[in-house]
Amino acid sequence: TKWVYSFGDGRAEGRASDRNLLGGKGANLAEMCSLGLPVPPGFTITTEVCTYYYSNERSYPAELTAQVEAALEEMGKIADRKFGDPAKLLLVSVRSGARASMPGMMDTVLNLGLNDETVEALAKDSGDARFAWDSYRRFIQMYGNVVLNIDHDIFEEILSDEKGRLGYELDTEFTADEWREVVALYKEKVEAEIDRPFPQDPREQLWGAIGAVFSSWMNPRAMTYRRLHDIPASWGTAVNVQAMVFGNMGETSATGVAFTRNPSTGEKALYGEFLVNAQGEDVVAGIRTPQSLTERARLESGSDKPSLEKVMPEAFATFVQVADKLEAHYRDMQDLEFTIERGKLWMLQTRSGKRTTRAALKIAVDMANEGLITHEEAVCRIDPASLDQLLHPTLDPDAPRDIVGTGLPASPGAATGQIVFSPDEAEELKSHGVKTILVRVETSPEDIHGMHAAEGILTTRGGMTSHAAVVARGMGKPCVSGAGALRVDYKAGTMLALGRTFKKGDIITIDGASGQILAGRVPMREPSLSGDFSIIMEWADEIRRMKVRANAETPLDARTARKFGAEGIGLCRTEHMFFNDERILAMREMILSDKEEQRRMALAKLLPMQRADFIELFEIMAGLPVTIRLLDPPLHEFLPKTEEEINEVAQAMGVSADKLKERTEELHEFNPMLGNRGCRLAISYPEIAEMQARAIFEAAVAAAKSTGQPVIPEVMVPLVGVASELTYVKKIIDDVAKEVLAESGAELDYLVGTMIELPRAALTADTIAKEAEFFSFGTNDLTQTTFGISRDDAGPFLETYRKKGVIEQDPFISLDVDGVGALVKIAAEKGRSTREGIKLGICGEHGGDPASISFCETVGLDYVSCSPFRVPIARLSAAQAAC
Ligand code: ADP
Ligand code: MG
Ligand code: MG
Repeated sequence: TKWVYSFGDGRAEGRASDRNLLGGKGANLAEMCSLGLPVPPGFTITTEVCTYYYSNERSYPAELTAQVEAALEEMGKIADRKFGDPAKLLLVSVRSGARASMPGMMDTVLNLGLNDETVEALAKDSGDARFAWDSYRRFIQMYGNVVLNIDHDIFEEILSDEKGRLGYELDTEFTADEWREVVALYKEKVEAEIDRPFPQDPREQLWGAIGAVFSSWMNPRAMTYRRLHDIPASWGTAVNVQAMVFGNMGETSATGVAFTRNPSTGEKALYGEFLVNAQGEDVVAGIRTPQSLTERARLESGSDKPSLEKVMPEAFATFVQVADKLEAHYRDMQDLEFTIERGKLWMLQTRSGKRTTRAALKIAVDMANEGLITHEEAVCRIDPASLDQLLHPTLDPDAPRDIVGTGLPASPGAATGQIVFSPDEAEELKSHGVKTILVRVETSPEDIHGMHAAEGILTTRGGMTSHAAVVARGMGKPCVSGAGALRVDYKAGTMLALGRTFKKGDIITIDGASGQILAGRVPMREPSLSGDFSIIMEWADEIRRMKVRANAETPLDARTARKFGAEGIGLCRTEHMFFNDERILAMREMILSDKEEQRRMALAKLLPMQRADFIELFEIMAGLPVTIRLLDPPLHEFLPKTEEEINEVAQAMGVSADKLKERTEELHEFNPMLGNRGCRLAISYPEIAEMQARAIFEAAVAAAKSTGQPVIPEVMVPLVGVASELTYVKKIIDDVAKEVLAESGAELDYLVGTMIELPRAALTADTIAKEAEFFSFGTNDLTQTTFGISRDDAGPFLETYRKKGVIEQDPFISLDVDGVGALVKIAAEKGRSTREGIKLGICGEHGGDPASISFCETVGLDYVSCSPFRVPIARLSAAQAAC
C-alpha cells in the first residue's frame, strides 16, 4: 500500500481532488506544486494511516518507516539538503490536516530537526545566530507543548521573565546570546517536567510529532468539534511533513495570511496581514499587531506601519500573481498562508476562505458576473442556514449610543447581553436562557463551546484573522476583536473601558459592523434584504421546482412571509387566533358549555372575529393559496387555569364557579396529544367545524370582492387516521360551502384536504386521497407518532442519545429520512395512485430545514411551508435541491 505522497519542484503525487486521502492541506499543497507555484517540498502521510493506527492499537503499517525515509530522501534532494545532517541541514514542519479544516487538532510544529548541534550549523549556514537561536527556542516551545504536553504557559512565563529582566517590549529585540539563554532555561524546564532531556535525535523528534498528530485526532477538543460539525471520526487526519522556509531571517523575511477577496464584505480586493521577521502563528496569535498587505488597506485603516506592497514590492508583486492564479484555478475565494524568506515568496497553504454571509453573496454574484462560475454554482455556493445572519437585527442608527470603546469589526451583526469572562459561564447562563457577551483577551479552540453559547464575542487582542474573528464569522456571531484600549481582568471579573469599570453580569452591546462597544442595551433594527441577496434569491427562484409557502396566521407574519417571497400560506393554525384576550373568553364559554345550544351561542361570537382574520389574510396573500387548518389542539389548552379566570368565565356563562370546575375536570385527559383533538374535535362537536368553515367561505367571498382576485381557500382537516373521518368532516365543510354560496350568490373554488401526520394515514393514503384533494405532511406530529416520542418531552433524552452516539440527529430538527421519510414516500405514491396530480406539501418545522427540503425534492412534493423568517432559506434550499 502507498501510505506516503510526495510533492515538490513542480510535481506532486497527489492533487486537489485527493482531499479524502491527503486531507485538505495536503491535497492543496500537492495541487499548488503541480501548478508550478513556489511550495517548499514535502510529503503527506495519508488519512488511511490514521485509520490503521486506530484499528491496530495505535501502531503503524509495517511499510510506513521505509516510505517516510524514501520521501525524506526525495525532499532532501529537491531542497539540496539532508534531514539530520548538520552539514546540509534540513529542517521540517509537521502539520496536521483533516478533510475539513478542524480546530482542536494538534498545532503545527516548526523547525523540527534542531538540536544543540544543528542549531550551531544553522547559525553558521545562515550567517545569522540570532535567527538560529530564535528558531531553536520556538521549536522547543512548540514541541514541548504539543508533543510533550508541557503547558504553554510554562514557556511563556520564562519568556516574559526574561523580557522583563532585559527590559524588552518585543521578542524581536532579543540577541542571539539572549535566545541561547532562553533555550538553556527551556531545556532545563523540559527535563524537570518529563524527567529526561529534550529529545536531540531528529528522527525521534519526527516520529514523536507524527504520533502526536494522529493522537490528537481523538483528543477531547477535536471530538467536541467533530460532534458539533457532524464530522465522522472515521475520516481520520493526514500528516504533512514539509521543508522549512524562514520568515524570521531578519528584516527581508516575513510571514502572513491573506484572502483573495475581503472575507467580511466580499469586495474584490486582496486582503490580509503580515509580520516582518516572524514565523508561523505569530500573525494569528496577536503577538504583535500585524501590518496590512496592500497600501490601500493601510490607508483605510489609518495605520502608520508600512504595507507589504511598500516594504517588499517584488515579493508582493509575485504574491498578487499567485493569488490571482489560485483564485482562477479553484474558482473560489482563497485563504492563503505564505512566508517570505530573504525576499523570496513561498506558499504554505491555500483553501476556500471562510466568509461572512454578506461576503459569500457578493462573491457568488460577482464571480457569476465575471463568468467564473454559473448561476447554478453561485446559488449552490451559499449555505442556506447562513442566511439567518442576514435576517439578524442591526443597531438602530438613530438610537443614542453610549460608546465605551472600539475594536475591529470582525464579524457583522449586533448583540446585547451580560458580560461573562469565561466560556463555561457563557454556557451555564445560556442553559438558563440568559444572553451573554463573551469577553476575552483572545480566544483559542478551547473556548469554542462558550463562543457557541454567547450572543457575541469581544476580544481585546488579535486582528481580523485572529481565532475569535475567524470562528465568529463561521458561526455567524457578531464579534468585535482587538479592542486594545479595554483592560480585562479575569481574576477580578472586570473590564475597564474609558475609565469605567464593567463587572461580570453588566449589560453591554457590541456592533460587529462598526466595531463599537456600547454600555447597556441599544435598540435594534430589522435588516433590509436587497442587493446581492435578492439577486441570489432571483437566481434561486429560476432554478427551483418546489414552491415555498409560509406557516402564518397573524397579519404581521403573513406580511413578513410575503416580504421574504412566500408564495402562499401552507399552514394557518386557527387555534392561534383564539388566544388573545377578548377571544379566549368566548372560546372558554364554548368549550365549557355542555349543551350544543350554548356552544353555538359562543361560536356565534367567535364567527365575526374569525371571519375578519381570514379576510385580512386573504387580502394580504391576494391571489395566493392559503391553507387553513381546522381547530387542532386538545381543548384543555384553552381552559381557564387561575381562580380569577374561572370566575370570569363562570360569570359570563351565568353558571357557578363550582360547576365550571367540575366541567373542567371532566375535560381532563391523561395523554392529550393522543386525545380528543384534530378531526376528532370536529366529529365530537361538528358546530365548531361549521363555524370555522363558514368564516372561511364568507371571508373568501368578501376578499375576492375587495381584491378583485380569485381566492382559493384550502381547508385542511388535521389528524385524520381513517378515511371515513375525513368523509365525515368533509361533508360538514361542503354543506357550509353550499349554504354560503347560495346566500351570497358568489362563485368560489375551494379544496378540502388533510394533514398526513399519523402512520395509519400514510399507509392508507390511497383510500384517503379519494376524499382529500391535497395532502400536507405534518411532520412534527408524524415524527412524534412514528417514533412514539413526545416532542415536548424529547429534548433531554434526545440530547443524551446524541452525546452517546445512539442517534446522529434530532429527528424533530432534521427529517428522519429512513423512517418518517419512508412514510412520506409511501403516502405520496399511494395518494397519487388514486388521485393523479394530488397536491402535496409539507408544513412541519422540517419545511425550513435544508436537508429535509432536499428530501422533499426527491419525493416530488409541490411545496414546502415554513416559518416566515425561514422562507429565504427554504427558497435557496429548494433551488439547491433541484440542481
Ligand atoms: P494551521 O492548520 O493551524 O493553519 P499550519 O500547518 O498551516 O497550521 O501551520 C501554521 C503556520 O505555520 C503556517 O501558516 C506557516 O506560517 C507556518 N508553517 C508551516 N509549515 C511551514 C514551513 N514548512 N515553513 C515555514 N513556515 C511553515
Ligand atoms: Mg494553516
Ligand atoms: Mg399536528
